Amino acid sequence: MKKLLAVLLSVLLVCLCMAPAYASGEAPAQTHSDSFGAYDHVFIIGVDGAGRFFKDVNTPEFDRIFADGAVDYTARTEMVTVSAQNWGSILSGVSYLRHGLTNDKAGETQRDSSTKYPTIFTYARRAFPEAELASIVNWDPINYGIIETDIGVNKMSPGNDEDVTNAICDYFDAGNAPTLFFSHFDEVDHAGHEYGSKSQEYISAIEAADARIGRVYDAIERNGLMENGLFIVVSDHGHLVVGGHFGLTARETNTTVAVKGKTVVAGGVMDDDTRNRDVSAIALYALGIERPAYMSSRVPADLFKNTEGEQRDISRDLPDATLCKLAWVITVLTKWI
Ligand SMILES: [Zn+2]
Repeated sequence: MKKLLAVLLSVLLVCLCMAPAYASGEAPAQTHSDSFGAYDHVFIIGVDGAGRFFKDVNTPEFDRIFADGAVDYTARTEMVTVSAQNWGSILSGVSYLRHGLTNDKAGETQRDSSTKYPTIFTYARRAFPEAELASIVNWDPINYGIIETDIGVNKMSPGNDEDVTNAICDYFDAGNAPTLFFSHFDEVDHAGHEYGSKSQEYISAIEAADARIGRVYDAIERNGLMENGLFIVVSDHGHLVVGGHFGLTARETNTTVAVKGKTVVAGGVMDDDTRNRDVSAIALYALGIERPAYMSSRVPADLFKNTEGEQRDISRDLPDATLCKLAWVITVLTKWI
């Protein structure tokens, strides 16, 4: 216990020593490679509760889609492994400490684009006033309380994952070509809560999500949208062996970020500092939208060709950066559990 405390204190000390070095310097310039603005469409497919477990399950569709893509199975979550905290960060590029979203809040309170840390949908709307933007989700609080109400996002919350899949395929087959698209499957999370992350039920739920991801990808591709499209799969958190999530163990905090597109490094694994929150930066970068300076998401290394990864400026959110470093110790200690 004393040893663990010493390690934690050392990490904290290193973090605090590093901070002034970042704070006193200029924020690192955003790199603009050929990939900046190279895409007309970004598709973000969220799979709730799947964590890192795509890699442990038979997922032929995921493997087919990302055979020439970049995949990181150990991207880190927010330091509270709960849905709204993470979907809020994935879509807004700031930590949960900043956006303050919780499941209850997202289910009860709507936001508009005047909110302090709006989602990337607001930035897409400002950059492309006429663009189609859409979000089709199983878990309605994302559409109700996370994505803003006043920016003309085409929102649908059809019900279960099968209904979501059908709605997405119909949406693309009807000729819609969204600049930014988000979707969310929820049934892996249900299985995780009920049976835990080592159960056959959880594995089967990920396999079912895999088949749905394949159908969604094919609908996008057959309508000609992948030529200049970036396709992303991301999860908010994983699950404990006994089911459930809230803490900082590896099963909860390691999660999947997978990206496919014409300028993505085939076989890329992204760098060790990748977080699911970085999906917001990746999406803005692909669409050629400058990222606001307050965001603590960034484009990882080993993702886009000819693009150096950006350093995360921890001075932008020092409490989050410190918590993340401290929690990393717990993740490492629980890696094999
Ligand atoms: Zn969740």
